[in-house]
Amino acid sequence: AKHHGRNCYYVFNDQMSVDLAARLQLEAELKQAITEQQFSLSLQPKVCLTKRKLHSFEALLRWQHPTRGTVPPDLFIDALEQAQLMVDVGYWVFERSCQLCVQMMQQGLTDVVMAVNLSATQFLQVDLADNFARILAKYQLNGAQFELELTESTLVNNVSQTLDIMHQLKALGFAFAIDDFGTGYSSLNYLKRMPVDTIKIDKSFIQGMQDNEADLQIVISTIAMVHKLGLQVVAEGVETAENVAQLRYYQCDILQGYYFSRPIPETEINEFIQQVLTQQWP
Ligand code: C2E
Ligand code: CA
Ligand code: CA
Ligand code: CA
Repeated sequence: AKHHGRNCYYVFNDQMSVDLAARLQLEAELKQAITEQQFSLSLQPKVCLTKRKLHSFEALLRWQHPTRGTVPPDLFIDALEQAQLMVDVGYWVFERSCQLCVQMMQQGLTDVVMAVNLSATQFLQVDLADNFARILAKYQLNGAQFELELTESTLVNNVSQTLDIMHQLKALGFAFAIDDFGTGYSSLNYLKRMPVDTIKIDKSFIQGMQDNEADLQIVISTIAMVHKLGLQVVAEGVETAENVAQLRYYQCDILQGYYFSRPIPETEINEFIQQVLTQQWP
């Protein structure tokens, strides 16, 4: 049964759980979203700065709500966690990413790489790597076609188990990226202890770098540090030509943001691929 009472309003406010009834309703709606397949993925390209070509796609979760339209993930990821649904939805995200990978390969995109976001609770599943291996095998894909995006907070949670799971996933070929770099835990210790391949500089620094000297210096020194560690650096939230020019000057490797492309709904992917096969980005 669906209830679309006045409480709905609170549920989609930024401060969730203002109201227990609203929270329970949201949980019920999320369970329904799973059984009625209201989730989908949008794919946002990442662009290689030197080749000016598509580098990979990031899979971003979308909820097509029956009455409210598309609900962005920041408004329901926490609720999925609280309702203990995030692990299941996370496996769904990975499997759907595999399906889209196969679809893009059939469209002629041979060396497609897909980035998938993982939450901290997914990293508490001791059978995460086994389950991913099983899903990969089902689609005859290799882990090397995937990059897993983790936040700094995931890495400081239960360090020994996290390292263990990371090594298991590494053995399957998966690469790791640190998402929202610079916004989380301040210790950089994990950078030398964990098998990380890529750092994604948080979009708040990228959006500030044009006008704010501190943001600019943070971006410049992050790029230099990441390169000295032998890792790759991605700038997210790139929106302007000025951002691109600056990031090119400071030799960032990969760019992602509305300047290049919004996330593409999965239903529009085939069309997008045909365009991307020949596209040279600015
Ligand atoms: P994120 O991983 O940091 O993803 C980047 C967010 O920035 C996305 O928001 C993307 O649409 C948005 N974005 C991309 N380019 C630009 C730009 O140029 N300017 C601005 N202002 N924003 C840009 P989205 O899709 O709403 O996702 C929000 C967050 O939800 C993600 O942040 C990620 O933390 C989480 N999320 C999304 N999908 C999943 C998922 O499958 N699993 C998990 N655990 N978390 C997810
Ligand atoms: Ca991400
Ligand atoms: Ca991010
Ligand atoms: Ca984020």
